[in-house]
Amino acid sequence: MSAPAIDVPFPKLERWAAGNTGIPYVFTFHAATDGPHVLLQALTHGNEVCGAIALDWLLGEGFRPARGTLTIVFANVAAYQNFDRAEPYASRFVDEDFNRLWTADVLDGQRQTADLARARQLRPLYDRTDYLLDLHSMTDPCAPLALAGRQRKGLELAQALGIPAHIVVDGGHAAGKRLRDYAFFDDGEDPRAALLVECGQHWERAAPQTATQTMLRFLRHFGMADGAFLDKHLDNSPKPPQKVIEVTSAMTIRSEHFAFAMPVRGLGVVRKAGTLLARDGSAEVRTPYDNCVLIMPTRRPKRGETAVRLGRFVT
Ligand SMILES: [Zn+2]
Repeated sequence: MSAPAIDVPFPKLERWAAGNTGIPYVFTFHAATDGPHVLLQALTHGNEVCGAIALDWLLGEGFRPARGTLTIVFANVAAYQNFDRAEPYASRFVDEDFNRLWTADVLDGQRQTADLARARQLRPLYDRTDYLLDLHSMTDPCAPLALAGRQRKGLELAQALGIPAHIVVDGGHAAGKRLRDYAFFDDGEDPRAALLVECGQHWERAAPQTATQTMLRFLRHFGMADGAFLDKHLDNSPKPPQKVIEVTSAMTIRSEHFAFAMPVRGLGVVRKAGTLLARDGSAEVRTPYDNCVLIMPTRRPKRGETAVRLGRFVT
């Protein structure tokens, strides 16, 4: 399978290496006026450059919060720095997926990897965060998606932004907990909330624009950006109503011999219940209901990881 074209620049992030917090590639700015602690993050996955382009731009503009505290994080920079155009998927992480580490048993455990070391370094920042935006992108071409988690507050946050057009209500992956579901972010009784946005295919030209506009709306929603800055940079044109898809199951790959039985694409809809979707070793996987929506089918099947998640439209 050939890789998609790489149509976006990879910014030189070294100018941000020192940060201003004592943690490399992390900046925190305090406004004079009280307000929430908002954290914007890119490079949870090292080859998902759109968020890094957005944050590089925001820092380059000299942006400062109008109230509260703003933290800007380039997360897995070591993975990003390994990016190789000849093998563009290899730099998703260094040793293991940074976005499958977010339970206390893993974070406090004995395992030592480069990605886990970075997660442990950043964890105290997340513990101080009220609202987190985690900017991602996808392996295959697909319309942008907000991944809202399974709590009502995540859905409400995605709806407050008004983009992207598709919101996925979901519980994550069997392979490990995502940052967006870390600790209080996944507690329905706690007001602090996180949102993960998949801004399109990793290297498509529109992805950095989606990342930037999502970030600006996030800042606007929490009153973090002044009007003049938003007037200049925010696309405030009317957007289509958002659709909500509830994930009902995640198909985890059980064998070394997994293959889809049909061509699959993100947000593709399989009309009939019982349609053969994939073979996993000797097992057949069929769609459980009519109009089954495929969420981010993988192009690199690997045992223990998610092949695809299945959902249905709820609005
Ligand atoms: Zn990602």
